[in-house]
Amino acid sequence: MNNPKEKVNRLGIMGGTFDPIHYGHLVAAEMARAEFKLSKVLFIPTGTPPHKDRKDISAAEMRYEMVKLAIHDNPAFDISRVEIEREGPSYTVETLRVLRRDWPDHELYFITGSDALLEIFSWREAEEIFRLVQYIGAARPGFDASDFFLKVQQEHPETQGKIHYLEVPALAISSTDIRARVRRGEPIRYLLPETVRLYLEQHRLYSGS
Ligand code: ATP
Ligand code: MG
Repeated sequence: MNNPKEKVNRLGIMGGTFDPIHYGHLVAAEMARAEFKLSKVLFIPTGTPPHKDRKDISAAEMRYEMVKLAIHDNPAFDISRVEIEREGPSYTVETLRVLRRDWPDHELYFITGSDALLEIFSWREAEEIFRLVQYIGAARPGFDASDFFLKVQQEHPETQGKIHYLEVPALAISSTDIRARVRRGEPIRYLLPETVRLYLEQHRLYSGS
Protein backbone atom coordinates (compact mmCIF):
# COMPACT_ATOMS: atom_id res chain seq x y z
CA MET A 1 0.00 0.00 0.00
CA ASN A 2 1.13 3.50 -0.73
CA ASN A 3 1.51 5.82 2.18
CA PRO A 4 -0.93 8.62 1.41
CA LYS A 5 1.43 11.09 3.04
CA GLU A 6 4.13 10.28 0.54
CA LYS A 7 2.16 9.90 -2.62
CA VAL A 8 -0.04 12.59 -4.10
CA ASN A 9 -2.92 11.17 -6.05
CA ARG A 10 -3.95 13.24 -9.00
CA LEU A 11 -7.12 13.01 -10.99
CA GLY A 12 -7.32 14.48 -14.49
CA ILE A 13 -10.67 15.82 -15.63
CA MET A 14 -11.48 16.09 -19.30
CA GLY A 15 -14.90 17.56 -19.91
CA GLY A 16 -16.37 18.04 -23.34
CA THR A 17 -19.27 17.70 -25.67
CA PHE A 18 -17.39 14.91 -27.44
CA ASP A 19 -19.60 15.13 -30.52
CA PRO A 20 -17.66 13.10 -31.53
CA ILE A 21 -14.60 12.31 -29.37
CA HIS A 22 -11.42 12.34 -31.49
CA TYR A 23 -7.65 11.85 -31.28
CA GLY A 24 -7.13 15.49 -30.23
CA HIS A 25 -8.98 14.77 -26.97
CA LEU A 26 -7.31 11.41 -26.46
CA VAL A 27 -3.76 12.60 -27.10
CA ALA A 28 -4.23 15.63 -24.85
CA ALA A 29 -5.53 13.39 -22.04
CA GLU A 30 -2.70 10.88 -22.45
CA MET A 31 0.02 13.55 -22.54
CA ALA A 32 -1.48 15.23 -19.45
CA ARG A 33 -1.58 11.87 -17.66
CA ALA A 34 2.11 11.25 -18.28
CA GLU A 35 3.36 14.82 -17.79
CA PHE A 36 1.46 15.50 -14.55
CA LYS A 37 1.56 11.93 -13.21
CA LEU A 38 -2.18 11.63 -13.09
CA SER A 39 -3.40 8.31 -11.73
CA LYS A 40 -6.54 8.57 -13.84
CA VAL A 41 -8.18 10.80 -16.40
CA LEU A 42 -11.93 11.04 -16.14
CA PHE A 43 -13.82 11.91 -19.31
CA ILE A 44 -17.05 13.74 -18.58
CA PRO A 45 -19.43 14.18 -21.50
CA THR A 46 -21.71 17.18 -21.01
CA GLY A 47 -25.44 16.84 -20.59
CA THR A 48 -27.06 20.03 -21.87
CA PRO A 49 -24.10 22.36 -22.43
CA PRO A 50 -24.99 25.90 -21.34
CA HIS A 51 -22.37 27.46 -23.61
CA LYS A 52 -23.01 25.69 -26.89
CA ASP A 53 -25.51 27.29 -29.18
CA ARG A 54 -25.62 24.35 -31.54
CA LYS A 55 -29.19 23.13 -31.57
CA ASP A 56 -28.30 19.79 -33.13
CA ILE A 57 -26.00 18.26 -30.52
CA SER A 58 -26.16 14.48 -30.62
CA ALA A 59 -28.00 12.65 -27.85
CA ALA A 60 -26.03 12.49 -24.63
CA GLU A 61 -26.19 8.69 -24.56
CA MET A 62 -24.64 8.49 -28.03
CA ARG A 63 -21.82 10.86 -27.11
CA TYR A 64 -21.31 8.83 -23.93
CA GLU A 65 -21.19 5.59 -25.92
CA MET A 66 -18.58 7.02 -28.31
CA VAL A 67 -16.35 8.12 -25.42
CA LYS A 68 -16.68 4.65 -23.91
CA LEU A 69 -15.61 3.03 -27.17
CA ALA A 70 -12.68 5.44 -27.51
CA ILE A 71 -11.18 5.00 -24.03
CA HIS A 72 -11.77 1.34 -23.30
CA ASP A 73 -8.23 0.20 -24.17
CA ASN A 74 -6.55 2.70 -21.83
CA PRO A 75 -6.63 1.48 -18.21
CA ALA A 76 -5.91 5.01 -16.93
CA PHE A 77 -8.96 6.48 -18.66
CA ASP A 78 -12.44 6.39 -17.20
CA ILE A 79 -15.80 7.98 -17.92
CA SER A 80 -18.35 9.68 -15.68
CA ARG A 81 -22.09 10.14 -16.07
CA VAL A 82 -22.24 12.98 -13.57
CA GLU A 83 -23.15 15.65 -16.12
CA ILE A 84 -25.32 13.47 -18.30
CA GLU A 85 -27.50 12.54 -15.36
CA ARG A 86 -27.87 16.03 -14.00
CA GLU A 87 -31.14 17.73 -14.93
CA GLY A 88 -31.01 21.01 -16.78
CA PRO A 89 -27.89 22.85 -17.93
CA SER A 90 -24.72 21.53 -16.36
CA TYR A 91 -22.18 23.90 -14.88
CA THR A 92 -18.58 22.86 -14.52
CA VAL A 93 -18.31 24.26 -11.00
CA GLU A 94 -21.05 21.91 -9.81
CA THR A 95 -19.31 18.95 -11.41
CA LEU A 96 -16.02 19.91 -9.78
CA ARG A 97 -17.71 20.15 -6.37
CA VAL A 98 -19.05 16.62 -6.82
CA LEU A 99 -15.59 15.35 -7.83
CA ARG A 100 -13.96 17.18 -4.90
CA ARG A 101 -16.35 15.32 -2.60
CA ASP A 102 -16.00 11.93 -4.36
CA TRP A 103 -12.20 12.02 -4.67
CA PRO A 104 -11.18 13.52 -1.32
CA ASP A 105 -7.59 12.26 -1.41
CA HIS A 106 -6.87 13.46 -4.96
CA GLU A 107 -5.65 16.73 -6.37
CA LEU A 108 -7.88 17.66 -9.28
CA TYR A 109 -6.41 18.69 -12.63
CA PHE A 110 -8.87 20.21 -15.06
CA ILE A 111 -7.74 19.84 -18.67
CA THR A 112 -8.92 21.93 -21.61
CA GLY A 113 -7.46 23.26 -24.83
CA SER A 114 -5.52 26.44 -23.93
CA ASP A 115 -7.72 28.46 -26.22
CA ALA A 116 -10.64 27.60 -23.94
CA LEU A 117 -8.98 29.13 -20.85
CA LEU A 118 -10.51 32.58 -21.31
CA GLU A 119 -13.96 31.05 -21.66
CA ILE A 120 -13.71 29.75 -18.11
CA PHE A 121 -13.87 33.29 -16.73
CA SER A 122 -17.32 33.66 -18.25
CA TRP A 123 -18.51 30.51 -16.54
CA ARG A 124 -20.47 30.39 -13.33
CA GLU A 125 -18.25 30.85 -10.24
CA ALA A 126 -15.00 30.98 -12.18
CA GLU A 127 -13.03 31.92 -9.05
CA GLU A 128 -14.40 28.91 -7.22
CA ILE A 129 -13.32 26.69 -10.11
CA PHE A 130 -9.70 27.75 -9.55
CA ARG A 131 -10.05 27.08 -5.83
CA LEU A 132 -11.11 23.52 -6.58
CA VAL A 133 -8.63 22.56 -9.30
CA GLN A 134 -5.28 23.01 -10.93
CA TYR A 135 -5.68 23.89 -14.57
CA ILE A 136 -3.87 22.28 -17.51
CA GLY A 137 -4.05 24.12 -20.82
CA ALA A 138 -3.25 21.89 -23.78
CA ALA A 139 -1.76 23.96 -26.56
CA ARG A 140 -3.54 23.64 -29.82
CA PRO A 141 -1.67 24.12 -33.09
CA GLY A 142 -0.35 27.63 -33.66
CA PHE A 143 -1.02 28.72 -30.13
CA ASP A 144 1.76 30.28 -28.03
CA ALA A 145 0.53 30.03 -24.47
CA SER A 146 3.39 31.48 -22.41
CA ASP A 147 2.61 35.24 -22.61
CA PHE A 148 -1.06 34.48 -22.55
CA PHE A 149 -0.86 32.39 -19.35
CA LEU A 150 1.22 35.08 -17.66
CA LYS A 151 -1.32 37.74 -18.51
CA VAL A 152 -4.22 35.62 -17.30
CA GLN A 153 -2.50 35.00 -13.96
CA GLN A 154 -1.89 38.73 -13.53
CA GLU A 155 -5.47 39.60 -14.32
CA HIS A 156 -7.00 36.79 -12.31
CA PRO A 157 -5.04 36.44 -9.05
CA GLU A 158 -6.99 33.32 -8.03
CA THR A 159 -5.21 31.45 -10.83
CA GLN A 160 -1.68 32.26 -9.56
CA GLY A 161 0.46 29.13 -9.71
CA LYS A 162 -2.48 27.03 -10.79
CA ILE A 163 -2.18 27.28 -14.55
CA HIS A 164 -0.04 24.70 -16.25
CA TYR A 165 1.00 24.44 -19.85
CA LEU A 166 0.86 21.20 -21.77
CA GLU A 167 2.38 20.80 -25.15
CA VAL A 168 0.41 18.44 -27.31
CA PRO A 169 1.69 17.30 -30.70
CA ALA A 170 0.07 19.50 -33.29
CA LEU A 171 -3.39 18.15 -33.84
CA ALA A 172 -5.69 20.36 -35.82
CA ILE A 173 -8.50 17.94 -35.18
CA SER A 174 -11.85 19.23 -34.00
CA SER A 175 -15.31 17.75 -33.68
CA THR A 176 -16.68 20.59 -35.80
CA ASP A 177 -14.36 19.64 -38.64
CA ILE A 178 -15.23 15.95 -38.33
CA ARG A 179 -18.96 16.70 -38.47
CA ALA A 180 -18.44 18.91 -41.53
CA ARG A 181 -16.41 16.20 -43.23
CA VAL A 182 -19.12 13.62 -42.67
CA ARG A 183 -21.71 16.03 -44.05
CA ARG A 184 -19.62 16.59 -47.17
CA GLY A 185 -18.83 12.91 -47.57
CA GLU A 186 -15.11 13.42 -46.94
CA PRO A 187 -12.90 10.94 -45.09
CA ILE A 188 -12.55 11.03 -41.29
CA ARG A 189 -10.54 7.83 -40.89
CA TYR A 190 -7.43 8.33 -38.65
CA LEU A 191 -8.89 11.47 -37.07
CA LEU A 192 -10.66 9.39 -34.44
CA PRO A 193 -10.69 5.78 -33.24
CA GLU A 194 -12.05 3.35 -35.79
CA THR A 195 -14.64 2.05 -33.31
CA VAL A 196 -16.04 5.58 -33.01
CA ARG A 197 -16.00 6.07 -36.78
CA LEU A 198 -17.98 2.85 -37.23
CA TYR A 199 -20.40 3.89 -34.49
CA LEU A 200 -21.25 7.18 -36.12
CA GLU A 201 -21.52 5.54 -39.51
CA GLN A 202 -23.88 2.93 -38.13
CA HIS A 203 -26.03 5.55 -36.41
CA ARG A 204 -25.84 7.93 -39.36
CA LEU A 205 -24.60 10.77 -37.19
CA TYR A 206 -23.79 14.11 -38.87
CA SER A 207 -24.71 12.95 -42.35
CA GLY A 208 -27.49 15.53 -42.42
CA SER A 209 -30.08 13.13 -43.83
P1 ATP B 1 -16.30 21.40 -31.24
O1 ATP B 1 -15.55 21.61 -32.51
O2 ATP B 1 -17.67 20.83 -31.43
O3 ATP B 1 -16.26 22.56 -30.29
P2 ATP B 1 -14.03 20.15 -29.99
O4 ATP B 1 -13.21 19.37 -30.96
O5 ATP B 1 -13.53 21.50 -29.59
O6 ATP B 1 -15.53 20.21 -30.51
P3 ATP B 1 -15.03 19.64 -27.37
O7 ATP B 1 -15.87 18.48 -26.99
O8 ATP B 1 -15.65 20.97 -27.53
O9 ATP B 1 -14.27 19.25 -28.75
O10 ATP B 1 -13.75 19.77 -26.47
C1 ATP B 1 -13.56 19.14 -25.23
C2 ATP B 1 -12.21 19.62 -24.69
O11 ATP B 1 -11.13 19.16 -25.51
C3 ATP B 1 -12.08 21.14 -24.67
O12 ATP B 1 -11.41 21.47 -23.48
C4 ATP B 1 -11.21 21.45 -25.88
O13 ATP B 1 -10.47 22.63 -25.68
C5 ATP B 1 -10.31 20.22 -25.95
N1 ATP B 1 -9.85 19.92 -27.31
C6 ATP B 1 -10.60 19.81 -28.41
N2 ATP B 1 -9.87 19.50 -29.49
C7 ATP B 1 -8.58 19.41 -29.07
C8 ATP B 1 -7.31 19.12 -29.73
N3 ATP B 1 -7.25 18.86 -31.03
N4 ATP B 1 -6.20 19.13 -28.96
C9 ATP B 1 -6.27 19.40 -27.63
N5 ATP B 1 -7.42 19.66 -26.96
C10 ATP B 1 -8.57 19.67 -27.66
MG1 MG C 1 -14.84 22.94 -28.64
